[in-house]
Amino acid sequence: MYILLVNPWIYDFAAYDFWLKPLGILYVGAFLKNVGFEVRLIDLLNRHDPKLAEFAKLKPDKKFGTGKFVEREVEKPPFLKNIPRRYKCYGAPLEYFITQLKDAGKPDAVFVSSSLTYWWPGVAETIRVIKEIMPAVPVVLGGLYARLYPAHAVKNTKADYVFSGELSQINQVMNDLFKRNLNFDFENWFEILDPAYELYEKVGYLVFLTSLGCPYRCTYCVSPKLWRRFTQRKPHTVVNSVERYLDLFKVKDVVFFDDAILINTEDHFKPLLKLLIERDFGVNYHLPNGIHARLVDEELAFLLKEAGFKTIKLGYETSGYLQRTTGGKVYDEDLVRAARILRKAGFTKEEIQAYVMVNMPFQKAEDVLKAVEVCKNEGISVSVNEYTPIYGSEDWHMLVQRGVLDEETDPALLNNTVLPYWFRAGMSFETVQMLKTLARR
Ligand code: SF4
Repeated sequence: MYILLVNPWIYDFAAYDFWLKPLGILYVGAFLKNVGFEVRLIDLLNRHDPKLAEFAKLKPDKKFGTGKFVEREVEKPPFLKNIPRRYKCYGAPLEYFITQLKDAGKPDAVFVSSSLTYWWPGVAETIRVIKEIMPAVPVVLGGLYARLYPAHAVKNTKADYVFSGELSQINQVMNDLFKRNLNFDFENWFEILDPAYELYEKVGYLVFLTSLGCPYRCTYCVSPKLWRRFTQRKPHTVVNSVERYLDLFKVKDVVFFDDAILINTEDHFKPLLKLLIERDFGVNYHLPNGIHARLVDEELAFLLKEAGFKTIKLGYETSGYLQRTTGGKVYDEDLVRAARILRKAGFTKEEIQAYVMVNMPFQKAEDVLKAVEVCKNEGISVSVNEYTPIYGSEDWHMLVQRGVLDEETDPALLNNTVLPYWFRAGMSFETVQMLKTLARR
């Protein structure tokens, strides 16, 4: 049996490769290989694929392997027509994709991944092209969008099968599609499997997860909903995995993309950091996914510094009363404490950055301004990002109940670029822009 994996295009008004790797489908690939399937991968977002050069003028890497995707303008879906921005397809050119599909032979199925729900038009277009080249091959859609909003995926993509489970439930797909009941320790897949980077010819950086899910319950987040339980991989297994792929690719940047890497830190991340220091791989490490400020302590900060971390993002989100009402994961004093500890350990302003959201429901402009001021006072950078109510999050349900959102609102309208043009619980477009400008000064 042979499965072709495809990581689809992004359709959006803006996108940037901030260490985007399709870990979900790489784990699916690892599982399929483990049970004896032949597996190949087409990743339309891999900027470092040498084959891309035949089809597009490549854009060089920016900092730490990040960079701009190849892009082309595409027509907006009817419900985005009034947004005065150019809508684009980010990722490899169409001709590249068609060539790769034609070279891929005759798979028994194509598994397509998905990510943010508002990127679904790129998923639909990717599947449309697959169907054109391989009309007789069943297409299975999985990933975040399929998990969060399967009914929408069934209706709006031409996938033959929408899989809304997590990897531990994938036997269901194998049963339904191939009448195969596979012998695998599904409950322990996260400990057993490495993300199958060997499916790539070349990558520019490596991304890993050391844990799945999060024990916190922030109202704007879906992480706890996606994972039935919070799971951590053993530190030495993670470090072996890092070593395995550094041997294969010789990249300079390794990224940990966990939602909650600091939980249980004495038995998890601190031992992991000590192993990284011991093995001394000579690479830069990055934590781009907003670590928990309250869980930062001095030992951790000095270990991060010694190991060679260059990017530390702190999840801050907002100042003001919303800190409490959205889940209480961080308060101003936690952020101040963490910033001071990290600065003391020797991290620079550029290396530490707090995420602040703007346009949260019922957020006041002064909450954003205060959050920005706290960061500036502590000598750390701040990244102000526009809020989006993720389909299925507590915020989303609350907004539907209050009549601010319609249950049928298309996820593409919840795109954080689009939201300020119409969101009635938020700030005006002008206020959002003003706050972003002030934060940059
Ligand atoms: S925002 Fe962060 S802390 Fe809150 S639930 Fe999501 S992952 Fe956990």
